[in-house]
Amino acid sequence: MLPFRFDVVSLAPQPFNSLTSLGVIGRALSRRIAELHIHNPRDFAEDNYRKVDDEPYGGGVGMVLKPEPIFAAFESIPLAKRKKVLLMSPQGKVVSQEDLKRWSIENDQLVFICGQYEGFDERIRTLVDEEVSIGDFVLTGGELPAMVIINGVLRLLPGTVGTASSLVEESHADLLLEHPHYTRPKEFRGMKVPEILRSGDHAAIRSWRQNQREFRTKDKRPDLYEKWITKKASDSLTMDLLGSTSVQIRIGNGYDMHRLIVGRELIVGGVKLQHPDGLGLDGHSDADVLTHAVMDALLGALSLGDIGKHFPPDDPKWKGADSLLLLGKVVQLIEKNGWKVSNIDSVVIAERPKLKPYISSMRQNIAEKIGIEIDAVGVKATTNEKLGPEGREEGISCHAVVLLEHK
Ligand code: SAH
Repeated sequence: MLPFRFDVVSLAPQPFNSLTSLGVIGRALSRRIAELHIHNPRDFAEDNYRKVDDEPYGGGVGMVLKPEPIFAAFESIPLAKRKKVLLMSPQGKVVSQEDLKRWSIENDQLVFICGQYEGFDERIRTLVDEEVSIGDFVLTGGELPAMVIINGVLRLLPGTVGTASSLVEESHADLLLEHPHYTRPKEFRGMKVPEILRSGDHAAIRSWRQNQREFRTKDKRPDLYEKWITKKASDSLTMDLLGSTSVQIRIGNGYDMHRLIVGRELIVGGVKLQHPDGLGLDGHSDADVLTHAVMDALLGALSLGDIGKHFPPDDPKWKGADSLLLLGKVVQLIEKNGWKVSNIDSVVIAERPKLKPYISSMRQNIAEKIGIEIDAVGVKATTNEKLGPEGREEGISCHAVVLLEHK
């Protein structure tokens, strides 16, 4: 894995040296879990005096960082695809553990732009993805804030801190603060280690620690505790909702094609159409491909076979039958089995005639027969770009899918 990259644009590079000698963080840098690069805008200042700041237009106290050296320093940085540019500013969103976690996971590079003096030229903000503050107070420069964030992100990178689990239960990982810790001796100046921690009963220890976390948070950070309570309530509400509305569903798929011949009517979705060459669909019933595909999908969803099984073509009863009537019978069967139709989607493949003007009547016919809203019935039409049997106008076909819900 490539090292994570921290790039800092700063007029005061020296303080960053201290990061390399900072225990865990120093070790992570020397083991190349991350790289730290400092870019001093002064090295990019073009005038003779290497001027990086100037008086603000309109007057006022203090000096303001000029845009050119900052832009030049920024543009010298090789940028990774998953980079984030952070502007250190007391006007930014105050960073939380959540932000550190997000950056450590979603990014491979963080670029920090540090202000100095009274601040920076407003146009520098155009370089930035997020403007962040480390708290509602004002420091003299962005260096300490950048170091704070580098420290916090670096310790979340895999390999920096001994065990990943120590990052899970700590304060701010999930709104609650961490439970208290004790080490030897078991009694110090009259203060005893709680008995339970020495009991070896891991379940009891776990529950004691959880209680302590809740108690401590309520005591020290009532604001966080409030948030935790609300989140807990909404989590359990979601569980309840999922539980009580859990539905059984079935999906079904249907397909049908009928031959186009002269001397037959052309009926699709219960709508009588006119083919420019006077062709119609051949079949035992009215050969309505759309209604047939929908029926097959309905029967298929409950593994009840296909329409051929329920309305055999050799049965004279179904000769010339209106397919919408057959659809009514299929729906009765579905309902008798304890199911209702949730929605349908279908696509009719026909070169000619144009189906678009008739689509809403087709949807209406099917929706009425099934007893659902027209919004729950999708009918789409397409040509086959003159390819295949539909394209050569040898036939018209249809695909349908349905979703059934247990009543
Ligand atoms: N006049 C500015 C503050 C300038 S302080 C204002 O009122 O907004 C100088 C620089 O220090 C800032 O540009 C910023 O980079 C940094 N800085 C100061 N306090 C900060 C904080 N709480 N968080 C992040 N950066 C801070």
